Amino acid sequence: MDKILVIDDSAVQAGFLKSILEKDYEVTTCQNAEEGLRVAREGGYALILLDIVMPGVDGFMLLEDLKQNELTKYIPVIMITSLADIQYEERGLLMGAVDYVTKPFSPVIIKARVTTHIQLYHYQTEFRQQAMIDELTGISNRRCYESGGIAKWQEAVRFGLPFSICMFDIDKFKLYNDTFGHPAGDQVIASVAKTVGNYFRRSTDLFARYGGEEFVAIFLGSDGLSAFEMMKTVRQSVEDLHIPHNSPVCEWVTISIGGVSLVPKTGDSFDTYLKLADAMLYDAKRLGRNRVVWSNAAQEQWMEK
Ligand code: GH3
Ligand code: MG
Ligand code: MG
Repeated sequence: MDKILVIDDSAVQAGFLKSILEKDYEVTTCQNAEEGLRVAREGGYALILLDIVMPGVDGFMLLEDLKQNELTKYIPVIMITSLADIQYEERGLLMGAVDYVTKPFSPVIIKARVTTHIQLYHYQTEFRQQAMIDELTGISNRRCYESGGIAKWQEAVRFGLPFSICMFDIDKFKLYNDTFGHPAGDQVIASVAKTVGNYFRRSTDLFARYGGEEFVAIFLGSDGLSAFEMMKTVRQSVEDLHIPHNSPVCEWVTISIGGVSLVPKTGDSFDTYLKLADAMLYDAKRLGRNRVVWSNAAQEQWMEK
């Protein structure tokens, strides 16, 4: 059952809305804006019905807070206005409310509007998720990495956590395509994504297809040496798939990995470290492929073989 939050200082009005909707929805009511914001942030709401005129923090101020917060900005808000404050509707719509209902309520109209906006909300949520997923592999795509990577970086800065970023690249993949064909190559990309993805399942991890046969991962909390050790296991897991490459240069499909771990400071640039990870990947290729090359902020470097 979808969850709806009703925020109205009048217990009678809130109760009436609840009675109209509770057969089809799980309805929570709040009598003031502060409580409404706190409850909305707890998550899971598919719609908010918000009274505009309330003592203290009014509906407009709350709407602004809801729209500025990552956790609540996508929840559709329907304003509740009385005929007397009809001039507020335009302002509310401009601020991002999706619709309004006027008091006294018509149960049929309220139900119809609520149904429509909850349906739209589900379509949009689905669309947002699809837009972040790579079709071939089912993992996050480049767009997801671009927005999620910066968020992880900021999280690391805020909590003073070690931040690791690494680039993966399938070795001699052009040759693989030339031998086995592009569709078989696609299967390999999907298999590598699935295998490597198993190592990045924590909520603080981000693993994405960067493009072509390249992947990027971000994870928090590991120092350089432990990240290097973990990545050796990841690299080995791809080799252990034993996908034949059948070329003079490599027997199986393998990957090269380059990365860096550091504790970021305010003012550091995220981009600098992506470039450093890329430089480590370049070293891994140059040194013979199928290996991990890792570094830290002190320019210490670890490499396999
Ligand atoms: P290296 O070991 O230096 O990485 O050699 P490489 O051949 O993998 O490197 P290069 O970057 O020259 O070639 C990457 C190849 O990956 C080129 C392209 O044929 C292939 N490729 C990129 N995207 C896809 C894809 O989506 N599907 C398939 N099947 N192949 C792809
Ligand atoms: Mg490449
Ligand atoms: Mg490659």
